[in-house]
Amino acid sequence: MKWGIWATIAACLQLASGGEQAQLDGLHQKGTFKSGSCCPVLRLFLPGKVFAADEPPYNESLKSYWSVQEQELHPRCIVRPDSSNDVSLAVAILTAGERFIPGRCQFAVRGRGHTPWAGAANIENGITIDLSNLNQVLVAEDKSTVTVGPGNSWHRVYTEIVPQGIVVGGGRVAIVGVGGLVLGGGVSFFSPRIGFVCDTVKRFEVVLASGKIVNATQAANTDLWLALKGGSNNFGIVTAFELEAIEQGDFWGGFIGFGESTFDAQFVAFEALTAGNPEYDPYASLIANYVWNATSQSWYSANNFEYTRPQPYPEVFANFTSLPSTFSTMRISNLTDFTVELSASNPAGQRQLFSTGTYHNSAKMMKKVYEIANDTVRDLNGVSGVKYSLSFQPEPVILLEKAKAAGGNSLGLDPAEGPLFNFLLTVTWESASDDALVSQKAQELYTRSETAAEGLGVQNKYLYLNYAAEWQDPIAGYGSDVKTSLQATSKKYDPRGIFQKQVPGGFKLFP
Ligand SMILES: Cc1cc2nc3c(=O)[nH]c(=O)nc-3n(C[C@H](O)[C@H](O)[C@H](O)COP(=O)(O)OP(=O)(O)OC[C@H]3O[C@@H](n4cnc5c(N)ncnc54)[C@H](O)[C@@H]3O)c2cc1C
Repeated sequence: MKWGIWATIAACLQLASGGEQAQLDGLHQKGTFKSGSCCPVLRLFLPGKVFAADEPPYNESLKSYWSVQEQELHPRCIVRPDSSNDVSLAVAILTAGERFIPGRCQFAVRGRGHTPWAGAANIENGITIDLSNLNQVLVAEDKSTVTVGPGNSWHRVYTEIVPQGIVVGGGRVAIVGVGGLVLGGGVSFFSPRIGFVCDTVKRFEVVLASGKIVNATQAANTDLWLALKGGSNNFGIVTAFELEAIEQGDFWGGFIGFGESTFDAQFVAFEALTAGNPEYDPYASLIANYVWNATSQSWYSANNFEYTRPQPYPEVFANFTSLPSTFSTMRISNLTDFTVELSASNPAGQRQLFSTGTYHNSAKMMKKVYEIANDTVRDLNGVSGVKYSLSFQPEPVILLEKAKAAGGNSLGLDPAEGPLFNFLLTVTWESASDDALVSQKAQELYTRSETAAEGLGVQNKYLYLNYAAEWQDPIAGYGSDVKTSLQATSKKYDPRGIFQKQVPGGFKLFP
């Protein structure tokens, strides 16, 4: 037994540094990898970084997932690596074992845990690699890039860099995590100026399924660099992102509230803003939110406007700001402050559902989505603590064009298809007994919206991965060419399909 453990250590260290896999055969002969052996072996390699259910860091980690559905899954142990070498070692151990006890050491990869659905970044009875200690924020000497760890919240990143007069494209809500957001695409207040967040990645540092650590840039491992821009957790564990930085001072932003009577005018205003006529104003960022009040059985809107210049009430928002409003928090402030404001309306620790759709820019389509939601939400009247909102976000042509200039991405969005808009449904509720009904009603809204889109001729295949529900298929939404290319990249960098089978969470490339 003792020999087996030390041989495992030697073999895995070799693997982590790119050594011969043949070492594993010896371990197999000695029966080192037995059912359930992964956590003890991980503990030996990574002392003080592997936690079981009776240890406080295990529960702290679980409690820090955003949704209750993720909090409710109980891995056998949670690994909290401190460095990319730790991640490499953990992966080498886990993937070595998988060869001999298939399915025994399944694992999940967690950034900061903001995906709502159970199993995206956690795993029942497997091993969860929680990257929250990989939270470096390193500003390049010339301030042209910032290298960030996947376990950061965007708040931590902004707190470090905003006082230095720079920003990076990142989450608009302070608490959200870096890892998942960048790998799924990422929409920031600056997206019309610099593209999706993934378009701004100069370098990914990645731990492959073998345990090997590689860099992926436009010049080296280019196929992997492209695949990670939208490919989520299908290729390895990203341990650092080097992001392009831009100079940025304070700007104008906040929320304005409106009553239901303004909705028709708002949909028209949204379509005009997204279309640009003749050009989209690149400083404009809008999240148009329509919120159901279950108590009064009525709707209101609370729209987030950001204009990334210190200019109050720019012309681009005039069709909204001239409407009668119910409240306003508009002000000139900094990025960190605005993202903290958005966090207040997105607290952690509740049952949550996201689902999404993408449509061609159309006020009529927005109205259809709203009408279908207005119909289906009534069936949730008996759901305790229900909160229900529709968010619409412009995807103007200038945003879709940025990918090409940045060397491409894997989202499969052709600027010729634009302008588009993104639709996000968010539902929050209290009891697990309502999970099935909430999911059924979200699916009904999506299906009926797709049918309406077909009728109006405004359908689009793209689904934003970071907003997609478990029952949606955002990888298919990238288009068959992109999917085929992602599959080829997976076979090249992960020939055993570790991130397809042994990491079952997230949206996978193969059926
Ligand atoms: C309140 C709230 C606000 C949001 N605001 C925005 C926004 O402004 N803009 C936007 O674009 N999106 C936004 N989102 C969506 C957000 O992008 C996703 O929830 C995203 O997954 C968050 O990243 P995370 O690291 O916290 O997620 P996690 O749930 O930890 O990870 C998501 C997926 O990515 C994988 N993953 C994470 N890190 C790594 C890694 N380092 N290597 C390999 N795989 C990894 C995980 O395995 C998982 O499958 C928001 C979400 C919430 C809940």
